[in-house]
Amino acid sequence: MNNNTTETTEPQQPESFRDRIATVDAKGKRKWVFAQKPKGKFYNIRTWVSWGFFALFFTLPFIKLNGRPLFLFNIPEAKFIIFGKIFWPQDFVIFGLTMVTFIIFIVLFTAAFGRLFCGWVCPQTIFMEMFFRKLEYLIEGDAAKQRLLKNGPWTGEKIRKKLTKHFVFFLMSFVIANFFLAYIIGVDELKKIISEPISEHVVGFLAIIVFSAIFYAVYAFFREQACTVVCPYGRLQSVLLDRNSMIVAYDHKRGEPRGKFKKNQTAELNLGDCIDCFHCVKVCPTGIDIRNGTQMECVGCTACIDACDEMMVAVNRPTGLVRYASEAGISEGKKLSYTGRMKFYTILLVILSGILALLITQPEGY
Ligand code: SF4
Ligand code: SF4
Repeated sequence: MNNNTTETTEPQQPESFRDRIATVDAKGKRKWVFAQKPKGKFYNIRTWVSWGFFALFFTLPFIKLNGRPLFLFNIPEAKFIIFGKIFWPQDFVIFGLTMVTFIIFIVLFTAAFGRLFCGWVCPQTIFMEMFFRKLEYLIEGDAAKQRLLKNGPWTGEKIRKKLTKHFVFFLMSFVIANFFLAYIIGVDELKKIISEPISEHVVGFLAIIVFSAIFYAVYAFFREQACTVVCPYGRLQSVLLDRNSMIVAYDHKRGEPRGKFKKNQTAELNLGDCIDCFHCVKVCPTGIDIRNGTQMECVGCTACIDACDEMMVAVNRPTGLVRYASEAGISEGKKLSYTGRMKFYTILLVILSGILALLITQPEGY
């Protein structure tokens, strides 16, 4: 297998993906992922979802309830405001219950719906794929152009594009860092840091610089490694998922044996529907091949579904070779349905969230 999205094009043995993560070569060197821009139904819906996310992220700090921020997570002062209600360390019971509900939520939700959260609403994925990656496409062009630019000599054009990209990335990271800080200290305090002399807000000013540097480093350099190497939720997938979990999956029963598409191909070749075009690999932001089965690096972004559907339409075959499915469903050739188990988990989650909402909205002093 040859992973076309990454910097190194070393030939890989069919099982070599088990030896190391897709973004590291045999010598332990980072392989840069040049993910092709996806296009299709899921990408369009994710774009709309991301606009909703950005609207919320950038407006919530300005919304107040009872004269207080809607949300505040002031860790240094151990003061938390949720839906305008203050929680102090003495409200530990509510905090404990929130944590328990949250953990149950994570376990149940993941068991039923896999990495739906990662692909659709995780801030890391949304900012990386729907914001910074799009800026990169705008400045440097699509994956092929980015690879050419990276491997090419330092011409005037390369210097201009690289400077522009890193300037824009840092500027955006600075803006995000300001809003991020607003969730911690509140927008009023942030305004003071911005408008008053730096000497009066040295700590706040340093916090903005540190957060900006961290966001810039993550989105310009660290990227998918945040999901594949650092994220604890990602690491937990192997114990949270089971054969009935909904995941982005390749239908190996329908796709194998794979083989290059040829016009007027005869049925005697006995090939499956996968035309081995690597389109699904080329769009993958974590550089993996979904045809190797469920992998911890898959963030469920659905780019490979769109890519494969596009190819299936082009060769006049049914879409859905890569789709949302469960492993058990694929083995038995069944379509994904909203199973009794999923319904049960959903009801449980609604009840837990209801109890939590009731606790949070109790009048103060209760
Ligand atoms: S395998 Fe598909 S869903 Fe998973 S990260 Fe790659 S492109 Fe996204
Ligand atoms: S995009 Fe579809 S047809 Fe092409 S290699 Fe991937 S699974 Fe096979």
